Amino acid sequence: MRAAPLAGGVHGPEALRPLLDVVLGALRDGAAVRDGPLPGGGADEVDRRVREAVGAVLPQHGTGQDEALRTLVHALAAGAADPAHPLCAAHLHTPPLALAVAADLAASALNPSLDSWDQAPAASALEALVTAALAAEVFPGAPAPDALVTTGGTESNQLALLLARERHGTLRTVTGADAHHSFRRAAWLLGLPEPVVVPTPAGTLDPDALAETLAGLAGQPLLVAATAGTTDAGLIDPLPRIADLCAAHGADLHVDAAYGGPALFSAAHRHLLDGLDRARTVTVDLHKLGWQPAAAGLLAVRDAADLAVLGHTADYLNADDDTEAGLPDLLGRSLRTTRRPDVLKTAVTLRALGRSGLGALVDACVDRARQLADLVEKAPGLELYARPVLTTVLFRPHGADDATVAEIRRTLLAEGRAVLGRAAASGRLWLKATLLNPHATPGDLEEILTLVEGSTHR
Ligand SMILES: *Cc1c(COP(=O)(O)O)cnc(C)c1O
Repeated sequence: MRAAPLAGGVHGPEALRPLLDVVLGALRDGAAVRDGPLPGGGADEVDRRVREAVGAVLPQHGTGQDEALRTLVHALAAGAADPAHPLCAAHLHTPPLALAVAADLAASALNPSLDSWDQAPAASALEALVTAALAAEVFPGAPAPDALVTTGGTESNQLALLLARERHGTLRTVTGADAHHSFRRAAWLLGLPEPVVVPTPAGTLDPDALAETLAGLAGQPLLVAATAGTTDAGLIDPLPRIADLCAAHGADLHVDAAYGGPALFSAAHRHLLDGLDRARTVTVDLHKLGWQPAAAGLLAVRDAADLAVLGHTADYLNADDDTEAGLPDLLGRSLRTTRRPDVLKTAVTLRALGRSGLGALVDACVDRARQLADLVEKAPGLELYARPVLTTVLFRPHGADDATVAEIRRTLLAEGRAVLGRAAASGRLWLKATLLNPHATPGDLEEILTLVEGSTHR
């Protein structure tokens, strides 16, 4: 089948090289056609263009690999919300590092599957090394920390609740109103009672309110889920005080550091995470601050013994006699079966940049957020919600009502001029800029504000 060469082996790279040229050309041309942070024209127009480019999804006779790659990659690039564009700043949607994307290509070409050693000999060894090293970053000094690779914060939070349920039989989760929606879903999925939600009028979990809640729930097993990097405002719950309260009330502590966790790499900002290592489990995403293409999630556990409950056996993957004979048993490292070697791109990034290189990227994004906040404070027509802690800036035009704020965001999206998010805080709606692009310039930040001010008075 010369029309369908394979990616692996000694000859795979030769088959890949010309195809990569096609892909890279289509990425470049598609981005040039788009010429902005997202395609203009809104959802219907994008839908129309994609239909037109694609034609028959499954033609009777194929168009050949070059044509198919060129057409579809071009269509996706032309119609992308591109986080590498500095005006694409709505979500924790990271611009991936080129080297991580290159590593991900190798992961796809080799296609190890981490559900059994005989599908992933070196990849499983690499994953063990990297997860041990990252777990030690989160839990320095703990005797036996470990970490699982996940698809992201949602899966990590779900696993944390599952591990807690397995420890206690059942339990009540306590979160702040600032917590991620995935806790509610995880409780639902696991058949646990709905989380108890502590109000967070200042945007972070209030220790006094938490103390009262924990006292009111005394006598039942509890898991407090604190947040280090709230999705809406990038704020960090007061972890040391929350850890004290958990210790006093016998509650387990989970910290959802999906967003803020990589601040650990920054000498300047790691103090924001003081108290993180007092948690029993910690969620970290490297596809946010971390600049990995999705997916690159982690669940770190202070004590590897907590993971034993995930051990299941399937004779074709981890037969007892294979395990006794020394074949590593991987099935308990995830709830998934077939599993991509997402660890490769992370390992490459950690090695290439080192702690200082990653820390410098974190610092650059925190600086951008502070600069944007400075500009908002100086703009007479704009109001700042609060000084940023991580890389999120909430702001709004003075005097605008919530409907106007929402309309500004949709107008900029429809025109393809900027991708800003929205967040409710202090009872009002704000525009949200989540700055994850370390290469954004002061001029880019000014342009965000100019676009918002320009849309306000139309
Ligand atoms: C992004 C985020 C999540 C969800 O992570 P996914 O990787 O999207 O599944 C959970 N918690 C927080 C605080 C987040 O910012």
